[in-house]
Amino acid sequence: MMDLFEQVKAHTQRLGMGERVRYGRACPRCGAVEGHDFRVDECRRRKFRIVLGRCIQVVLSWILRWRCLRCGKRFTDYPPFRVAT
Ligand SMILES: [Zn+2]
Repeated sequence: MMDLFEQVKAHTQRLGMGERVRYGRACPRCGAVEGHDFRVDECRRRKFRIVLGRCIQVVLSWILRWRCLRCGKRFTDYPPFRVAT
């Protein structure tokens, strides 16, 4: 398993290149899971605090907000490395 810092770096690079990564599988309201049921609503800069050994490091990355096309619900998709925001 990659360490947290590598995960954040990979995430940042993928989104920086325009890839639309979605970690959560289902819409929190209606349970839709198909890729075509979702559209990116917003892409935001976001600081993440990650724990590296005994240190907490703040890294700047991206976070996506999605809209479910089935029910209209908007939700933020938090990457798995999130410790605090
Ligand atoms: Zn939905």
